[in-house]
Amino acid sequence: MTANTKVVHAGMLLTEAGQAPKQQQSVLIEGERIKAVSSGFIDPPAGAGVVDLRDKFVLPGLIDCHVHLMAQFGPKIRMQIVEDSDPKTGFNAAHFAGLTLAAGFTTVRDVGAIGNPEVIFALRDSIAERKVAGPRVLCVGAIISPTGGHGQTYGYRQDVCACVQSASGTCDGADDCRRAVRRQVSHGADAIKFVATGGVLSDIKAGIDQQFTREEIQAIIDTAHALGRRVAAHAHGTAGINAALEAGVDSIEHGSFIDERSIELFLKNGAFHVPTIIAGVTALEMAKGGGMSAAQAAKAQLVGVKIKEALARSYKAGVNIAFGTDMGVGPHGQNAREFRYMAEAGMTASDAIKAATVTAAKLLNLSDEIGTIAAGKSADIVAVDKSPLDDITILEHMRFVMARGEVYRQSGSAT
Ligand SMILES: [Zn+2]
Repeated sequence: MTANTKVVHAGMLLTEAGQAPKQQQSVLIEGERIKAVSSGFIDPPAGAGVVDLRDKFVLPGLIDCHVHLMAQFGPKIRMQIVEDSDPKTGFNAAHFAGLTLAAGFTTVRDVGAIGNPEVIFALRDSIAERKVAGPRVLCVGAIISPTGGHGQTYGYRQDVCACVQSASGTCDGADDCRRAVRRQVSHGADAIKFVATGGVLSDIKAGIDQQFTREEIQAIIDTAHALGRRVAAHAHGTAGINAALEAGVDSIEHGSFIDERSIELFLKNGAFHVPTIIAGVTALEMAKGGGMSAAQAAKAQLVGVKIKEALARSYKAGVNIAFGTDMGVGPHGQNAREFRYMAEAGMTASDAIKAATVTAAKLLNLSDEIGTIAAGKSADIVAVDKSPLDDITILEHMRFVMARGEVYRQSGSAT
């Protein structure tokens, strides 16, 4: 036993979403890994500490498959983009990572940087080295976007746009798209994200329909897969969603206008839907509050309510649903608010938790590491006061967070 051995006494323990929670369980942790799960409150080995969660409901650390740690949308963002240096953006991102971890999210996938992607790569690595408190980060680097596409920056003078956007993801034509994907991988990207359609927050009147050609989409996906990277497609409009699914994309982000054909393709390929309902809700609120340009507001009105309907459809049809929030659009640290919208779309509490644990781990290709509380897995463990299976909104009130064996939050408990 090392000095890093701990025993968690859990009043209720949900080891895996979909299974029944058990009363009075112990989780033995050595270093950053779970060593064993056993019934009853076992005595700690000599020299080991006890984490007393006997009055808590304990579950696996939550996973958010769609965040943007380098930004926080709000009235000042357009000035911030041109004012903040890369180091300032990095410190802000570290702050947002801390808020996300405190909210019980022990793993996130960052799906695109505004500005210099080196910031997110550095943050990912510093968190992994335990120099900064934050969730495990997987990141895509720059968003793969065509010229004039959703992944670019607009509305400033041209030379300012050019200097604040991450141009390494911009590409046109199949060869150029292959190059852009390879460039992200060479810079350190864990996954690839491309814009299959227009998006709400790009300040350009280009709609929300397909942006890359089929040939370009195929080139992006095939190149990423050849390099062992999963591919996420930002997609609202139907044609773009289906073109990405037909080309073998791993996940559709948002998926506002999915149709019958999309559902067929999701099921056939085992692809994942990452709905991010809260982004639609937040964008709609901002549009109503006057915090958007005319081009952005028009698109917000179009997709704001559609995402929830899309989840209702995909969920009913049995599509893999992975949890994502698009935080950076909404406020970092409020990721768990997505659960209430998932419930409104018809998901059971158990399935919503599954989306944020087991299924998210599968999408991120980390099922051996995270998503359940089991021997050999990373010790990513969170706790709340009551069972989220009875009231999913309790996950908005996180009480305890352990990530990779280290306790980052403990409130409302005796120890
Ligand atoms: Zn996003």
